[in-house]
Amino acid sequence: MGAALEIRNLHVSVEGQPILKGVNLVVKQGEIHALMGPNGSGKSTLANTLMGHPAYEVTAGQIIFDGVDIVELETDERSRLGLFLAFQYPVAVPGVTVANFLRNAINARRKAQNPEDKGIPIPEFRKLLLQKMELLQMDPGFGGRYLNDGFSGGEKKRAEILQMAMLEPRIAIMDETDSGLDIDALRVVAEGVNRLRGPNLGVLVITHYQRILNYIKPEFVHIMMDGQIVESGGPDLALHLEEHGYVWLREKQANGDA
Ligand code: ADP
Ligand code: MG
Repeated sequence: MGAALEIRNLHVSVEGQPILKGVNLVVKQGEIHALMGPNGSGKSTLANTLMGHPAYEVTAGQIIFDGVDIVELETDERSRLGLFLAFQYPVAVPGVTVANFLRNAINARRKAQNPEDKGIPIPEFRKLLLQKMELLQMDPGFGGRYLNDGFSGGEKKRAEILQMAMLEPRIAIMDETDSGLDIDALRVVAEGVNRLRGPNLGVLVITHYQRILNYIKPEFVHIMMDGQIVESGGPDLALHLEEHGYVWLREKQANGDA
């Protein structure tokens, strides 16, 4: 049976301010989910909380991954369990190439699993890297670029997608928070997800931006408003949203029948 990420009645505060107010969501391996919602609704708060960011305090509820409550786990422990957060390493790393960065990431994981591990042999690593780059239709020269050094939004996302391909997570969370307006970055993420999608990968794509759904076809669409998921459905929900915006949901909320 595949792994699942189960978010149960999750309440999260930032600086004492309640932001998430009872989020329920299940993402299983093999499923693609989109989480949408207006700005300020709490989407990035959810992503940061799933990552284990220390500023986000879980005041109630659970985050279960593969049967384990991960709320108290550090970010790297979550990652080792097979949870991938696309913005885990957002900083520029001067002097470190994409390939070296990825090799370190793989070795850190191997070492955590077995302290005796000597690291992935270079030929094996190179083979894996080339294989994943081919799968993602990336220029092999990308591996030799310095990580995030002068990267465009699209290149940053390309590095993230490649990292995801290399680490082979069971569930990946992608937050489009700062690239919402960059169509190139959006397309990179969507195409990457489409090439990597399969029975072993579950994805939660977080966006305020309906347009991503022109590129990724999620099986499930959820809408967050004011710290809760107020509507869930299939791809047609996103189409409805594109046509009608969020107003009908606000009205539904206000009438208390959401
Ligand atoms: P979204 O990603 O849906 O646009 P966010 O999760 O970024 O929404 O924000 C939800 C609410 O939480 C907003 O009112 C925002 O001001 C607040 N918030 C989020 N992160 C922080 C933070 N680090 N410090 C203070 N307030 C925050
Ligand atoms: Mg956001």
